[in-house]
Amino acid sequence: MLEKKSTKAIALYSGGLDSTLSILVIKQQGIEVEAVYFVTNFGCDKNSEWALKVSRKFGFEVRFFDIEDKFLETLRNPRYGYGKNMNPCVDCRILMLKEAKKYMNERGAHFVITGEVLNQRPFSQRRQFFKTIDREAGLSGYVLRPLTALCLEPTIPEKEGLVKRDLLYGFEGRSRKPQMALAQRFGLYEYPTPAGGCLLTDPIYSLRLRELLKTNPEVKKRDIYLLKIGRHFRLNPECKVIVGRNKKENEMLESIGVTGDILLKAVDFPGPTVLIVGSVTEHEIDIAASICARYSDGKLKREIRIKAYIVTEKNGEPSKEVLKECIIHNVNYDFIERLLIAPKPFQKSL
Ligand code: SF4
Repeated sequence: MLEKKSTKAIALYSGGLDSTLSILVIKQQGIEVEAVYFVTNFGCDKNSEWALKVSRKFGFEVRFFDIEDKFLETLRNPRYGYGKNMNPCVDCRILMLKEAKKYMNERGAHFVITGEVLNQRPFSQRRQFFKTIDREAGLSGYVLRPLTALCLEPTIPEKEGLVKRDLLYGFEGRSRKPQMALAQRFGLYEYPTPAGGCLLTDPIYSLRLRELLKTNPEVKKRDIYLLKIGRHFRLNPECKVIVGRNKKENEMLESIGVTGDILLKAVDFPGPTVLIVGSVTEHEIDIAASICARYSDGKLKREIRIKAYIVTEKNGEPSKEVLKECIIHNVNYDFIERLLIAPKPFQKSL
């Protein structure tokens, strides 16, 4: 493909099929494209390695930007609300386009492209929302959606002749067959599954997040990160217990503990690692110990020993000391069940 250096576009890029195709369609016109990949840490960004690989194959630059802090602000109070779950898609797109605009100005680019397709998603990919999103981002007329452009009014770069409209597409709706056919034509044979795995569109993850934001509006990054791991139990507004469901999650919980955190383990039976998050008294430790016993292999025994450890620091390295040992007699399943937040596992892969 010949590149006409004088025209430059910035692409919102996720490594997924649609955003990759939008780049290829514009590059095919000889326009230089630089891609921006925004990291929010909610799963949509888990394709970063893949995105890099694709960018190398097709010869475009990609820059990664961490927008987690700004995204968290948006997530707490999205002006345009949430979609079906906790996905604030309209505000999310506004934020990403605002950031893309900054980069566009910095790089002297002429417009921004996205892989969005009209009516592909019910919330943010509707005609009126495209207009709102572009306006709120300060980019009215400067956001070109190459895959669906023929269904929309011409943008300024099209009107100015920087982009040939007749080489753009008019895809619309949820079917991805036209994109798949186009991908074949470009030699793009592999791509991640659609929806990009954004955790905020997962009903179970959303239940956990909603509960967290309701209980603790000043939520921290670590609290959000922890939502991805284990089973969660709410003991009181200030205290939560997280139980690892497998070896990997147990290791994650052990490694995420910071000084002052309390971890629990069964003494005589294999079982989960349990982390207590928030302010803790003896009472919370005892409840966490019964939860730990409930998920250990000794749950049917009449007596189960659980050790509680406090995370400390030794020579600058995290360490742990025994805080107390609890003896649990006959686990109370019903009580524990009532403390559980969002019992089912996520639908999205993490
Ligand atoms: S699904 Fe919605 S909230 Fe999640 S990254 Fe995409 S636009 Fe943003």
